[in-house]
Amino acid sequence: MITYHSTRGGGSALSSAAAIIQGLAADKGLFVPDTIPALPLPLAAFSDLSYQEVAEAIIGAFFTDFSKEEISSCVHAAYDGRFATDEIVPVRAVGNTHVMELYHGPTSAFKDMALSILPHLMTTARKKCGETGTICILTATSGDTGKAALEGFADVAGTEIIVFFPNAGVSPVQQRQMQTQEGANTHVFAIKGNFDDAQRGVKAIFNDPELAARLAQADIKLSSANSINIGRLVPQVAYYVYAYSRLVKDGSLACGEPMNAVVPTGNFGNILAAWYAGRMGVPIGKLICASNANRVLTDFLRTGVYDTHRPFHLTNSPSMDILVSSNLERLLYALAGDDAEEIRSLMAALDQSGRYEVSAAIRDGLSSFYGGFADPQETLDTIGQVFRTHGYLLDTHTAVAWKVYEDYVRETGDETPAVIASTASPFKFSGDVAKAIGLAAAADEFADLRALTAATGLPVPTGLADLETKPLRHTGIIEKSDMAATVEEVLK
Ligand SMILES: *Cc1c(COP(=O)(O)O)cnc(C)c1O
Repeated sequence: MITYHSTRGGGSALSSAAAIIQGLAADKGLFVPDTIPALPLPLAAFSDLSYQEVAEAIIGAFFTDFSKEEISSCVHAAYDGRFATDEIVPVRAVGNTHVMELYHGPTSAFKDMALSILPHLMTTARKKCGETGTICILTATSGDTGKAALEGFADVAGTEIIVFFPNAGVSPVQQRQMQTQEGANTHVFAIKGNFDDAQRGVKAIFNDPELAARLAQADIKLSSANSINIGRLVPQVAYYVYAYSRLVKDGSLACGEPMNAVVPTGNFGNILAAWYAGRMGVPIGKLICASNANRVLTDFLRTGVYDTHRPFHLTNSPSMDILVSSNLERLLYALAGDDAEEIRSLMAALDQSGRYEVSAAIRDGLSSFYGGFADPQETLDTIGQVFRTHGYLLDTHTAVAWKVYEDYVRETGDETPAVIASTASPFKFSGDVAKAIGLAAAADEFADLRALTAATGLPVPTGLADLETKPLRHTGIIEKSDMAATVEEVLK
């Protein structure tokens, strides 16, 4: 059985079910598997499988304490009939490259890939562990996680969900998506601060033993739907295996040849999943980590110094406006040879001085990554250029990835077949996308949705089409210092 332990060495090893319920380890570390399993089937065999079958094989390889039937029922509940395309993740050839469209789920962003299945993994885990109380999901969001988590957990028995988003830090469509959320167990608050404030506040709540004790008296346990939860990370590994198998199937790759992966990155969950796929045995070449103007990861990959002392930019790719990428800790842990002591000292430095520098050994391990960035104007220019050249519409996040990939190819001459992770529907960021392809300014983002449809012939995704007329249910705005009190108030 594969067990899970903290990147900071505290506590004992847990089953995957227990790690999924707990979310974050008690010593503030992240849960990681003791070993990354090898692919459970020969690489060539994946080309004959559907998305659901690939997901079952990959998730089952990690979560060995779940039965085959349990994994299968979670996968089908998550993906069957809930995505706009029959093929859950279409992989399209665009120009000389491939785009893996991860955004056809209910909220039009890639977060649906993991958050459609997490509630099912969690309720199954709860039964397996004999838990009877309420699980309260606490989530900080830069825009997309919040809605996808709300959609996934709404009215799931035995759960409550509380989402905090940065006031004025998300797009109008994202804000409205969250504020109109239905479900008796859903709670949404804007905080006066940025995403990092929200994430810090949530982490502080998780690490408050007195609060946990008070909640335990009411039989309530806190858990996380952020990508720090291993139950979110593992389902994301599946689509890299799937994309590879589709490139083999369409003849773009001979089985066994390397594939580069290009990932628009914020909290480092998506790109870490690609790295895990590589460790399982998928021939992943370079991992191209694309950032926006908040280019802390670009600088880190180039220098080995992670330094958060820099201005925080609100950009047109808001889901990547992040200065502290939590999932990087999992990569550093693996590259340090599972040395928890080293991770504790790096994370203590980050807490105390907002900066750390990694060892030469870790820097060596980072050489399979390339870091680059695009600023907001370059992002818009890329959307316009790709639309004019290929007739293909990118959202702002995917455009960041496209631009960084062009830089990478120009700089290195590396023409290894690549897949670009497309993380959001262009309709989700309709204002900027409309501007980028030269449409006249509309009255608001909702008028932009209609204008985009008129200009491109693409349908507005169902989850966005009725947003304008849905009633607002969640309009609270709170101080960032009031997050813990708000949680207790909601759960009373
Ligand atoms: C969350 C998100 C990202 C960043 O993904 P990470 O796993 O946090 O690196 C990129 N694009 C979109 C649209 C997102 O919602």
